Amino acid sequence: MRTAAAGCALIRGGTPVHGTGTGEVLICRGTVAASCPHGPAPIDATGCLVSPGFVDIHAHGALGCDFTDPNPASWHQALQTHLQAGTTTVLATLASTSPEQTAAALATADHLLTSKKAPTLAGAHLEGPCLATLQRGAHDPGHLRPAADLLQELTPLPTVLRMVTLAPELPGAHALISYLTDHGITVSAGHSDATPEQLAHARRLGLSHLAHLWSGQSTLTRPHLHRMPGLLEASLASDHLTAEVIADGHHLPAALLTIALRCLGPDRLCLVSDATAGTGLPQGSRFRTGATTGYVHDGYAATEDGTSLCGSTVPLAVTAARMRKLTGATVSDVVTMATDTPARAAGLYPRKGSLHTGADGDVLLLGDDLSVRAVILDGHPMAGGPR
Ligand SMILES: [Zn+2]
Ligand SMILES: [Zn+2]
Repeated sequence: MRTAAAGCALIRGGTPVHGTGTGEVLICRGTVAASCPHGPAPIDATGCLVSPGFVDIHAHGALGCDFTDPNPASWHQALQTHLQAGTTTVLATLASTSPEQTAAALATADHLLTSKKAPTLAGAHLEGPCLATLQRGAHDPGHLRPAADLLQELTPLPTVLRMVTLAPELPGAHALISYLTDHGITVSAGHSDATPEQLAHARRLGLSHLAHLWSGQSTLTRPHLHRMPGLLEASLASDHLTAEVIADGHHLPAALLTIALRCLGPDRLCLVSDATAGTGLPQGSRFRTGATTGYVHDGYAATEDGTSLCGSTVPLAVTAARMRKLTGATVSDVVTMATDTPARAAGLYPRKGSLHTGADGDVLLLGDDLSVRAVILDGHPMAGGPR
């Protein structure tokens, strides 16, 4: 009798999440394929929605492990926690910390990626350290530094880098944005006081994305008689830019999530977890995110002094279910915002975020409420099921 080869699977009996096709997905040696000669292992998806694996382009860690810790064991712990929850692709996001620690963490990412020891790791995302002091949120002000310094730190460019979040209005930011976008890195405006004009200028230099709407963004002012839009309004009114929301039920109430979705649509709005090392830890726990200490409350995290939210404590799939519940968005649109759209924003589509032939064989079986029932990575069903 022929036994199925590793990474060969035929998922059938489920309902396609986007409502087209049969919901049947054939995976041959880890890749979505039209045929497989190895006798693929059958996976019964009866009663489930069949979705691409979720893509989280903004996650800092989980279970006490922060991606600025260069210990590979810490990275494995965090990535495994997200994988069990349905996130099959992660941009490991580094909050502002020292140049030495940032370089060490990037070296760990490079090692894990080149040695293929972390299959869900798609690259690194630097959130900071070139951020506006007044919009820094939970980032340690002692580690914010000029754009020229980061440009030097990133020369030569670490091959693992995929995305940088920065404040485009800072001195020297234009040279940094041009350098990064010339090398194919996604540049995101975040923790920023940029005016609409400054955002437009940065966009002409290749900036294409916006970090967590409403968090760390300047907003409407009225210095005299006339109202002046801030980065928030410019983001909502923008054409073509993609943007993130943290739909954890704490960062943004339903009305703001609805506004973001109506302004940008599911093809430009990305769900991100912004999950910290506090994810999966009990209430009352302390954790590190970059150079900041966070504290886990009931379902959210804040800085120790309680002045700012400090990322989230939930994985992407939880935010997807909350986005659906809070906004009434369709399952298809919510899944698009957790797969296709973030994968495009980070330059990973269609290998990630799709089930097209040639894509990585990362599949989720979901309940109607978007609960994750099974996770399949590179054609391998994950043991133990989702947490
Ligand atoms: Zn942030
Ligand atoms: Zn963040």
